Amino acid sequence: MGRLFPKHGRPWDELAPEMEAAKADDMPWHSGRAHKTAFHASDEVLAVVKEAYSMFLTENALYPSGFKSLGRFEQEILRMAADILGGGPETAGICTSGGTESNIVAVKAARDHARVHRPQARRPEILLGRNAHPSFNKAADFMGLDVVRTPLGDDLRADPQAIAGAVNDNTIMIVGSAPAWPYGIIDPIAELADIARDHGLWCHVDSCVGGFIAPFVRKLGYDMPDFDLSVAGVWSISADLHKYGYAAKNISTLLFRDPGLRDIAGFQFDDWPSGRYATYTVSGSRTGGALAGAWAVLNHLGEDGYLDFARQSMDALDRLKAGIEAMDGLHIWGRPHATLAAYGSTVHDILAVAEAMERRGWIVNRLKEPSAIQLVINPIHAPLVDEYLADLAESLDEVVRGHNRAVNRDVSYAE
Ligand SMILES: *Cc1c(COP(=O)(O)O)cnc(C)c1O
Repeated sequence: MGRLFPKHGRPWDELAPEMEAAKADDMPWHSGRAHKTAFHASDEVLAVVKEAYSMFLTENALYPSGFKSLGRFEQEILRMAADILGGGPETAGICTSGGTESNIVAVKAARDHARVHRPQARRPEILLGRNAHPSFNKAADFMGLDVVRTPLGDDLRADPQAIAGAVNDNTIMIVGSAPAWPYGIIDPIAELADIARDHGLWCHVDSCVGGFIAPFVRKLGYDMPDFDLSVAGVWSISADLHKYGYAAKNISTLLFRDPGLRDIAGFQFDDWPSGRYATYTVSGSRTGGALAGAWAVLNHLGEDGYLDFARQSMDALDRLKAGIEAMDGLHIWGRPHATLAAYGSTVHDILAVAEAMERRGWIVNRLKEPSAIQLVINPIHAPLVDEYLADLAESLDEVVRGHNRAVNRDVSYAE
């Protein structure tokens, strides 16, 4: 790569259009045709988030004592998260840069807890279902821990029997997903928490994608298993605001049953010239924008607003599910909760169908085990339900009549 650092600066007038043009080939993530990273309620909501974000863009959330505004936003965001996730007066928490960081910090806390309370764990292991997010492997990789992924039950949920059978002296933590990303199905959290309790293990619920949608979907009257801090034995739960909170990246919440558990997550150091340094996050300096954007959207929408968007998404998903199941040879995998689902086929090549959908301008998320097309429904998808189903019927027909096979069988969640 040649030298790139410009010798002379250029005016913003010239840079702005160049950057705008650079976007041309980017994925139209909030067009409603994208089913990847399309967490979007409405342009009006996004405008509020952007304005609040830029208001605090350059303030540093590393110093809540200096930026009292950010300290207040963070505490209020956590209180609001606790309100919808079964928390009580004792609930404590931290805001992080995203689901990955929330899960990494939860693992770090579980590891430190085990150092004191489970000395028999010489090679600490995190125990979870095969459906759990890779961030737990990332955490384990960073911290020199092991991860044990147990096979799923026929219902595509973490199997409590398999989890219970895998507990050993090295186990430090059991993780359940609510829901797991691939199929949108909530693990049997109460049963997993019981197993953790029986062994004195940290039980974490990864509700990164579900935390800000499942409580509202339940309120709409849909069936929703208990999955949050209301379940005895759950010690921590992660819930992302930059997904169904409709906030802008990077922001997630990590709640703990009590401040004592939260404190274990902290890092402190004072053996250097500048004195005491203490954080709960992996990051040091971080933008106040993410906190401000999230605080603004929570207060802008309120429960009514979130319920309304949850209803729009659920109506869209219900219509999609009905349309898909009416098509010959297609079915939804398992019994998904909330606004995620995946569909596949035991007779047709679903990945060929995915390619046919892409030729029709849809941006499709694929799954490989079992092969499926994933739906992560947001309000922006609602106006396009009929068009999606019509294109799906055509795509399926094309595959059935042409005996098409998928050209590309690689499935990747992120590069
Ligand atoms: C999105 C997600 C994560 C990771 O979140 P990031 O914000 O991408 O770091 C973790 N767990 C689940 C279940 C998720 O859906």
